[in-house]
Amino acid sequence: MTEKIIYLDNNATTRVCDEAVESMLPFLTEKYGNPSSMHSFGGEVGKYIKKAREQVCELVGAASPDEIIFTSCGTESSNTALRGLTNPHRKHIITTKVEHPCVLNVVKYLGKKGFEATYLNVNAEGELDLAEFKESIRPDTALVSVMWANNETGVIFPVVKMAEIAKEKNPEVLFFVDGVQSAGKIPIDVKNTKIDMLGISGHKIHAPKGVGALYIRKGTLISPFMLGGHQEKGKRAGTENVAGIIALGTASEQAVSYLEDEATRVKQLRDRLEKGILERIFNAKVNGSRVNRVPNTTNISFEYIEGELILLYLSDFGICASSGSACTSGNLEPSLVLRAMGVPFTLVHGSIRFSLSRYTTEEDVDFVIEKMPEVINKLNSISPFQRELKELRELKKACSSPGKQKGCCKSGNCPSCGLI
Ligand code: PLP
Repeated sequence: MTEKIIYLDNNATTRVCDEAVESMLPFLTEKYGNPSSMHSFGGEVGKYIKKAREQVCELVGAASPDEIIFTSCGTESSNTALRGLTNPHRKHIITTKVEHPCVLNVVKYLGKKGFEATYLNVNAEGELDLAEFKESIRPDTALVSVMWANNETGVIFPVVKMAEIAKEKNPEVLFFVDGVQSAGKIPIDVKNTKIDMLGISGHKIHAPKGVGALYIRKGTLISPFMLGGHQEKGKRAGTENVAGIIALGTASEQAVSYLEDEATRVKQLRDRLEKGILERIFNAKVNGSRVNRVPNTTNISFEYIEGELILLYLSDFGICASSGSACTSGNLEPSLVLRAMGVPFTLVHGSIRFSLSRYTTEEDVDFVIEKMPEVINKLNSISPFQRELKELRELKKACSSPGKQKGCCKSGNCPSCGLI
């Protein structure tokens, strides 16, 4: 095992930024008061929480910090939005087939409580059909829950447009966005949208694990999920994770200042990585739209080999990536997202997600580009699909001749097909 870590698994979790660590430390040491206390030692802490609320407000573009409540994670934010539905006459929920389990499992649970769900399809690029969405909105629809960016492919859903469509067809519909993988990666400005609620997670934006936030537009009726004390204006009971909240505030401010870096440097590195892999490995294919996605993510399948083996070999070089989402790894179930996109099983099983961050360097990316062919060649040589691999290699060879017929290569990612 190597000493150096090349961390390309930032959609699973991120390194806590130094600024966030520094800002939270006093709240783990000398400033340990409870913000709900009457004395000024505790009360003073409340001022810092107020600042953190303003910083998160800025990150998501809310009209007022009062529209932000702190939670323990992205999962809690989704649970609060979905389980807080109050109208007993509205029992229909619209979501998509590729949501994170923190939405899909809540929708399943609500199904047992009398709710009916519509699951929107995605096409081969991982994108939604807006006509299908519009059609699915019913007079009894209570809520739409759609992620802004997919955790596995990075594909962005047109949530701003979808919220407009929803409200136009049925103004009473609540629109929740799982913003966990979009916050800090693309600009968000909820006040100028029709989105009612948006969840984020601290550990995906360089804050620690155990803290998240939920934007709830002023006037949105949601009953609290956590019951107890009066914290967060009664919308989320429980003594605040003060240090985590302060760190989330700092990380949010940092995320705003790094948005430009994400859109330029991080995107260039992601594209360099992708191009380097596709040019060197004949059985590599990118999953999902390559245009319409967050700048840090690429999901690449290596046909006829196992993703988990690729991860193990990469791990020997200190390279951290992921197959499917961290939550589903462990049960070896093939990715639900890729299956919903109709990706053939020989590609689904060999899929790897690389997710970059502000800490990723060109050196990191070039190291991965250098090591990948070694790993994949080794695994290709022990794959039970030798005949298929030979055919694919020959197809690619033929393809790299000057012909350049569009689509001549069945993988669709051959540099010489012009499909990149
Ligand atoms: N939503 C998406 C899209 C995610 O990727 C994740 C985590 O991977 C979550 C929600 C859950 O966030 P948390 O780990 O903070 O509960």
